[in-house]
Amino acid sequence: MGKEQDLIQRSLVVFKPDSVQRGIVGKILQRFEQVGLKIVGMKMVMPDEDHYRAHYEDIGEMITRRGEKTFQYNLAYMTTGPVIAMVLEGVEAVPLVRKIVGPTEPKSAEMGTIRGDFSHMSFGYSDAKGIGVPNLVHASGNVSEAKKEIALWFKPDELYDYSDVRAKFTR
Ligand code: UDP
Ligand code: MG
Repeated sequence: MGKEQDLIQRSLVVFKPDSVQRGIVGKILQRFEQVGLKIVGMKMVMPDEDHYRAHYEDIGEMITRRGEKTFQYNLAYMTTGPVIAMVLEGVEAVPLVRKIVGPTEPKSAEMGTIRGDFSHMSFGYSDAKGIGVPNLVHASGNVSEAKKEIALWFKPDELYDYSDVRAKFTR
């Protein structure tokens, strides 16, 4: 593989239960499509606790970083309904998707990011109330996390190679 091919990345995006239940999946998805990211996999699923433990702790080290209580709040939030999981591909797609999504806390997310434009919540309030932070989408934090997350959420035959009319910057 050429050097430039190493810069073509895949990122896992999950539309969390709040974006599905609020009916704003289309609006959010447009943010990713309009920059030219390519959808190479997509499905609606309702994962169980084991899956979220693998996703948030084995891969994301969330309990290690933020504690078991925060994980439990987040688990309760994530299991309120189905989610839509997606794999997006493009040039340095992992940091690009994080930039489009914005930081974890909606209160700190700039306008123009998904979390800044479509949600409002602070860690102070969610901690005081004992709830997960509803911030609409999950996005892989780095390339190594992305590879593990895609393997957890998708079977190889659920990811598609197809030609994109903008194909210049995809595999
Ligand atoms: N989360 C939460 N309370 C916290 C921190 C995180 O409910 O105090 C939730 C939030 O929905 C976040 C997810 O747990 O998106 C994963 O946390 P992480 O630190 O990996 O943030 P992200 O990578 O999603 O920005
Ligand atoms: Mg994370």
